[in-house]
Amino acid sequence: MRNLKYVFLLASLICLSCKKEKETHKKPKLVVGVVIDQMRYDYLTRYYDRYGNDGFKRLLKDGFSLENAHYNYIPTYTAVGHASIYTGTTPDMHGIIGNWWYDKYVKKSIYCVTDSTYTTIGSESKYGKRSPYRLYTTTITDQLRLAQNMKGKTIGVAIKDRSSILPAGHTATAAYWFDNTRESKVITSSFYMDELPNWVKEFNNSKPADAYTSKPWETLYDINTYTSSLPDNNPFEETFKGEKTPTFPHDLPRLKEQNWGNGIIKETPFGNSITLDLVKAAILGEDLGKTGYTDFLAISFSSTDYVGHRYGPDAIETEDTYLRLDKDLADLFTFLDNEVGNGNYTLFLTADHAAAQVPAYLESIRIPAQYFDSKGFKQFMKDVCTKHFKSGNLIENISNHQIFLNKKELERLQLSSNQVSQVLADEAINFNGIYKAVTARTMQTINFNRGILRTLQNGYNQKFSGDVLLIPNPASITGHRNGGTTHGSGYSYDTHIPMIFYGNGIKKGSSSKRYEIIDIAPTLSNLLQIEFPNGSTGAIIHEVLSE
Ligand code: ZN
Ligand code: ZN
Repeated sequence: MRNLKYVFLLASLICLSCKKEKETHKKPKLVVGVVIDQMRYDYLTRYYDRYGNDGFKRLLKDGFSLENAHYNYIPTYTAVGHASIYTGTTPDMHGIIGNWWYDKYVKKSIYCVTDSTYTTIGSESKYGKRSPYRLYTTTITDQLRLAQNMKGKTIGVAIKDRSSILPAGHTATAAYWFDNTRESKVITSSFYMDELPNWVKEFNNSKPADAYTSKPWETLYDINTYTSSLPDNNPFEETFKGEKTPTFPHDLPRLKEQNWGNGIIKETPFGNSITLDLVKAAILGEDLGKTGYTDFLAISFSSTDYVGHRYGPDAIETEDTYLRLDKDLADLFTFLDNEVGNGNYTLFLTADHAAAQVPAYLESIRIPAQYFDSKGFKQFMKDVCTKHFKSGNLIENISNHQIFLNKKELERLQLSSNQVSQVLADEAINFNGIYKAVTARTMQTINFNRGILRTLQNGYNQKFSGDVLLIPNPASITGHRNGGTTHGSGYSYDTHIPMIFYGNGIKKGSSSKRYEIIDIAPTLSNLLQIEFPNGSTGAIIHEVLSE
């Protein structure tokens, strides 16, 4: 009798664990990656009280938020960020070392996703001659395709080409972005297809940008309620061409003539709204989440970056852009609930980098900040070469805070690049605004375990990077002297970004433990039970995953 009881208990226990196992291993029908271009972590907290319940707050409440997540390399630019999120590794490994960089082999500046072997699909412009071939490793989206024997769909959507192409990977079903012309149509590359699918043609035919750019950009709420930001008219913001002050309302119908036609949309919060329109059309047009496999939708909202550059983190325009994005996100989540089903999708939200506060604003409140003089630096380094080596031709290029030496001139003078690089690094430090300078040889021979030199090392690619690497002062930027700001450094204001997971397979909660951007792809690989991207160096974030 007692034995029978045991058997019964055991059987029900096995049954229970069976059920549990089944639930845990129910894979998501769709994975949605959401990258917000230039979103600082503090935009979650700074505007928290102004957000609705169904956008950012829904993710924070029902998802898992990592409050101390960082980029771990230099430079923190868009292409590099998107590549690192999706490959789970840093530029030393994946090869995307900038948006643009000096290619020392062909001796010219190149763009990360240009590929002249392909043509534009969807317009006559050159902006579709693109592919991800400069990305040397696989992405999480590639691994998902491989794991499913190339079944299931992986699709990238963004205004910026690089923010769609790099996340979607080498094996993408498709990547779409907006043409960089006055029409601002959705295009792709012949790398993916020979003709746009009907749903994209219909999207373009409906001229969706017209409605957004035919009325002024006014604040969503009464302008007096924007108390987290500086006054609307302040000296730290840039204007559109044709504007006298950087103030609301921004008269888009009038301004668009002088500011890229319908392309002005990308410089306003409505660039995010039109991206969302395209995302919805993609979900419906491609039956995402209904293919019988796990599909992957890689979305990037680019307009936050354009707005951030023009106005900076302390502007009403920036606050307004995030309040509107919050509404667009709420709309996206509801759409996913209806089309795919809450519980059937896994979503993550992060940023490709953050941004510096406007240096002139920081200076005005006595925080050390600076505009780096790159022209002056070029001349300074040239003089150093003349003084030490009697040659004004030793430097071939300076870009992205890296110096590339002229190998032919080195040969002619019978100098070694190590010898010259060390002198340049030692002298560069004497220039106002240079905080650290190291040689490529140092990057190759010393293993930095922590701090900003570790960050520099993660961004140093032996094959593609320069001969001397420079780190400017904290809170210094290049350009934007007339207002606005930028990003690119390894300092916390550029590296600290939101990282939130939500949905299928994800716990509720938050953590203030430090994580790195390269941990997203391994975590998703583990959740999906697939192989990691082939150059992956990140770790699985166990605390976000359901037991
Ligand atoms: Zn960016
Ligand atoms: Zn940017």
